[in-house]
Amino acid sequence: MSVAVLALHSRQNAFKPSQIEYRSIPSSRVMRPALLNPLFAPVTSLSGVGPKQDKLFRYLLGRDETPRLVDLLLHLPASVIDRRARPKIRDAVPGTVVTLEVTVDRHRPTPGRNPRAPHLVYASDETGDVVLTYFRAQPGYVEKLLPVGSKRYVSGTAQMYDGTLQITHPDRVVDEAGFAKLSGIDPVYPLTEGLALGSLRRAMAQALQKLPDLPEWISPEVIRRCKFPDIAEALNRVHMPVELTDILPDGPFWSRLAFDELLAGQLALALVRAQLRRPAGERHAGDGQLRKKIIDALPYALTTSQQEASAAISNDLSQPVRMLRLLQGDVGSGKTVVALLAAAAVTEVGKQAALMAPTEILARQHIKTITPLAERAGLRVAILTGREKGKERRDILARLAAGEIDFLVGTHALIQDDVVFKALALAVVDEQHRFGVRERLALTAKGEAVDVLVLSATPIPRTLVLTYFGDMDVSELREKPAGRQPIDTRAVPTSRLSEVMDAVGRALSAGKLVYWICPLVEESETVNLADAEARFDSLKARFGDQVGLVHGKMRGTEKDRVMAQFAAREIGLLVATTVVEVGVDVPAATIMVIENAERFGLAQLHQLRGRIGRGSEASTCLLLYKEPLNEMSTARLKVIRETTDGFRIAEEDLKLRGEGDVLGVRQSGLPGYRIARSDVHAQLITQARDEALRIMKDNPKLAGARGAALRCLLYLFERDEALPLIGAG
Ligand code: ADP
Ligand code: MG
Repeated sequence: MSVAVLALHSRQNAFKPSQIEYRSIPSSRVMRPALLNPLFAPVTSLSGVGPKQDKLFRYLLGRDETPRLVDLLLHLPASVIDRRARPKIRDAVPGTVVTLEVTVDRHRPTPGRNPRAPHLVYASDETGDVVLTYFRAQPGYVEKLLPVGSKRYVSGTAQMYDGTLQITHPDRVVDEAGFAKLSGIDPVYPLTEGLALGSLRRAMAQALQKLPDLPEWISPEVIRRCKFPDIAEALNRVHMPVELTDILPDGPFWSRLAFDELLAGQLALALVRAQLRRPAGERHAGDGQLRKKIIDALPYALTTSQQEASAAISNDLSQPVRMLRLLQGDVGSGKTVVALLAAAAVTEVGKQAALMAPTEILARQHIKTITPLAERAGLRVAILTGREKGKERRDILARLAAGEIDFLVGTHALIQDDVVFKALALAVVDEQHRFGVRERLALTAKGEAVDVLVLSATPIPRTLVLTYFGDMDVSELREKPAGRQPIDTRAVPTSRLSEVMDAVGRALSAGKLVYWICPLVEESETVNLADAEARFDSLKARFGDQVGLVHGKMRGTEKDRVMAQFAAREIGLLVATTVVEVGVDVPAATIMVIENAERFGLAQLHQLRGRIGRGSEASTCLLLYKEPLNEMSTARLKVIRETTDGFRIAEEDLKLRGEGDVLGVRQSGLPGYRIARSDVHAQLITQARDEALRIMKDNPKLAGARGAALRCLLYLFERDEALPLIGAG
């Protein structure tokens, strides 16, 4: 699970937790220490930040609502401009940023007949002349800024033009007094179109002024060992650097902030975990007779790792401590049946289980796998998604409350307030990195001491499990079920599209089922990716009614109908966007074409490819790519051709680009983290975990002064959701 997802949701995820009501979770905002109020004021309270900037800041800082000052302060510079070079005009190096001390000699304002011509200011020092150039200046503005005869300090990029030194639109023009205050080093921030660097800097300077005197939440030992400055100094120095190195991620200032962010994350995980680990009053596994019935009904034998995982889960369930287990397994490794066996175990003692999936397609997939097996064992299953409405929904809820449903499968519809279980004992959460702590808590809050099983189809290297899942027990399904054929994966340049079409035609005639994956539904303005609908049309023109289309913008029922047609072989070629990525199961499909394969991350390619090679027939995957391939794409395609082992792919991915892409989220940094970086701050992750564990040991209720300081930390980094669990300090 990702506390990671708490703050930042990947823009790529169609799943929007904001649509969900969380009324069952008490809001802790009201308990926020008053000390922090200035930091939680909206950025629009700053001078110079109006409604237009509000929109830009929302976009820049990735927030649905007006960002607060704290959000702004945690937006760190990407680089700096060094204005400390103060050459004489004669020595100024074109192409570099210089700060010149000049006397203003004369102006040549924009001539009235040619408003496009610049306003020129001629200035000099004892070594030469410089021309300052202003385009489209307000009448009178330049004259006021640079009065003739005055001395001014002018900073900007020097250029040579017609044999004369020029600065076009100097970044800074100040007099003697202003120069005394001029910073030699200016931070440069990631920006968004329409937001000027100057406006951002002015807003930042004001925000820094509002910074209250914050208590120290890091222990003195760690401060000493890591040589951390205090948070105020850290923020001031990254935003107003004194040395060029002040903004480096591995420097003391950025590292301090990264540690704060990681500590907040680890502490939040630890608080949730402590809550979940509370001893369960009862044991949640029976005598195993239902499990046996299911195993006997299986048309196949469980793999060794499925057996081991099941045994570990059964053991967890029969302990008087709550289970908190992550079941990692590649797509197609057979996690669903393991989850079903866990559900059967709790049914044996008359309790209920729930399985929450991130999408409707996935929820339906699960229920389809589960229902026939469950029926043989007399397990009563039902599904609840946004699509079950009115009387149907009321019936399900009534049966659930009466204990007439043993295993409820669904989407986040499961955590709505009116979904009441008679005796929920097990929560299975699939594809958890799409869910945040809140959803997990909301589901487990529907029962007493609910055991938690998290399913993840994105193999996560061990080093990262800690960051995203905290300390959980882990089971891995490393082997593929017996009888799986290897997948022959090839990379083909788009120039050979017609050959690929011919091959697809032959496959269709031979009765094979083919996926054709396109990255987007609509042509985007900026990125010219293959358009699923256009591809659908051209394939349909060639292959006629055998071609179907599914994409994320279709209604759920419509999607299911097309998927069902595909599974029933009514259509042989399914054009799809990445909606088929997660968990769709049509074992008879043996061919997949992926367009623009060079644009997908490794994890996503692997997930997509996992839709084939699920039956007993050999499969082929064709990765269509646009030439020329860059180094990264070449490396990625090579890995995906060489192996189908998800754990290996995850490790390679980590090597290639860092964790962001392992989880298919961002390209740099840790998903859900604004400041901490996997590459630079890897050391800090373990240190933050250790610090969090010490805190949980010494002061689990976050009491006293240190506790109050830690609460501040959790609020600052929006990891306060776990606070209501432990009450006021
Ligand atoms: P996952 O959820 O891990 O992606 P599933 O649970 O959906 O995988 O299983 C994929 C397919 O493999 C399903 O059709 C399932 O019936 C089948 N399967 C599961 N376990 C085995 C096994 N041990 N032997 C053969 N087939 C299996
Ligand atoms: Mg699955």
